[in-house]
Amino acid sequence: MAVNIEVYQQIKATLDSKNVCLVAVSKTKPVSDIMDLHLQGQRHFGENYVQELVDKQPQLPTDILWHFIGHLQSNKVKYIASFVHLIHGVDSLNLLKEINKQGAKHSRVIDVLLQIHVAEEETKFGLNKEELEEILEFYISTTLPNLRIRGLMGMASFSNDQDKLRKEFRSLSDLMEIARKKITSSSLTKQQVDILSMGMSSDYELAIKEGSTMVRIGSLLFGSRS
Ligand SMILES: *Cc1c(COP(=O)(O)O)cnc(C)c1O
Repeated sequence: MAVNIEVYQQIKATLDSKNVCLVAVSKTKPVSDIMDLHLQGQRHFGENYVQELVDKQPQLPTDILWHFIGHLQSNKVKYIASFVHLIHGVDSLNLLKEINKQGAKHSRVIDVLLQIHVAEEETKFGLNKEELEEILEFYISTTLPNLRIRGLMGMASFSNDQDKLRKEFRSLSDLMEIARKKITSSSLTKQQVDILSMGMSSDYELAIKEGSTMVRIGSLLFGSRS
């Protein structure tokens, strides 16, 4: 199935007008599909699997900004540390420390988002409020020179219940505000906490209404995945 260029242009124009960043989620899709969107000017692409990302990255233009949006195991950070633009799914101290360590090896500062669990499904990864506060406490009281927490990421429930989704996005927004205040008011860090990654093909419009600054859209652009 080919990339839907018309839909891409529509979504991109809408998001640009709202200052929302579009991450085109290309997991399971061929590099030719990514090239089709690259040709349209798209630069932010998201992948879920380390092996797939590592395979695709060398085959594609170097100006692509790669987002890792899947669940990342600590022992795999090293494979993407040299080039990854933003890691969305950080949900443990261990992972945070490992990213900092790998960032140092490559003389980079790697931007990350902390993943929050707001959906009802138990299978989804992420932190609750207490765990978020614990990690933030650690972050502002330690020196991690090769990593920056830039904000939060979350996935809402698989549901058509708009009230439910709105509630979940709203709780993510509230936690974002807590994280932003906590980090920006700490004396150690002079950095921006400005990325709230929420919203996918089915719910991105609602997510934006509730404060999303970055949406991750796959199937609307690339067609459904088999
Ligand atoms: C696959 C995936 C997306 C994109 O999902 P679509 O419904 O195809 O837009 C977004 N975020 C994450 C974390 C994903 O795994």
